[in-house]
Amino acid sequence: MHEELVLGTTNAGKVRELAALLEPHGIRVVSLRECPGSVSVDETGTTFAANADLKASQQASALSRWVLAEDSGLCVDALGGAPGIHSARFSAGGDDANNSLLLERLAAVPATARGAHYACHAALSDPFGAIVARSQGTCHGSISTVPGGSGGFGYDPLFIVPEYHRSFGELAPEVKGVISHRARAMRAILPAILRHLAR
Ligand code: IMP
Repeated sequence: MHEELVLGTTNAGKVRELAALLEPHGIRVVSLRECPGSVSVDETGTTFAANADLKASQQASALSRWVLAEDSGLCVDALGGAPGIHSARFSAGGDDANNSLLLERLAAVPATARGAHYACHAALSDPFGAIVARSQGTCHGSISTVPGGSGGFGYDPLFIVPEYHRSFGELAPEVKGVISHRARAMRAILPAILRHLAR
């Protein structure tokens, strides 16, 4: 593939996972940190899909490059779907503070009612800001009472994958790379990326 694909994020965890998911297919990716002229996009949408579109489209227009963006988050049943699109800023702090707040909010919730899912919506924009493809993926699990493992990022130490009885923090990146919300969204949008970018 001649053309590079800009990943519309500065989140190191996302960049690592997206690169691992796309590069084996011959897609050369570059993160926003390596893109002079990138802009900070206000996530003013009320859905994951709307925010993914905003991030892809605005960044692509600013850079005049192909951009793949995704908006993702954790939706917890007992919290009515929160933190959802506000996952990154659930607490006033970073990942550790977010995880502590989540445990606090679920302190009285029994194991049988701790269901949750991750959602990821992706959007591919052409260099003029037109969205040419969209995809989504989900991954269902439950929220643990204690953090486990140091793999992944964000809420992963608390997110238990039922098939493995382990958190994403404990599971190998290769496992997350097959069953995660992001992996599913990338598999779904991959044909469009391969079709649109110069090969
Ligand atoms: P965004 O950058 O606005 O899309 O927010 C993403 C936020 O959702 C991250 O900062 C995490 O808090 C959470 N999140 C999304 N995907 C994952 C994941 O794969 N593992 C853990 N947390 C995630």
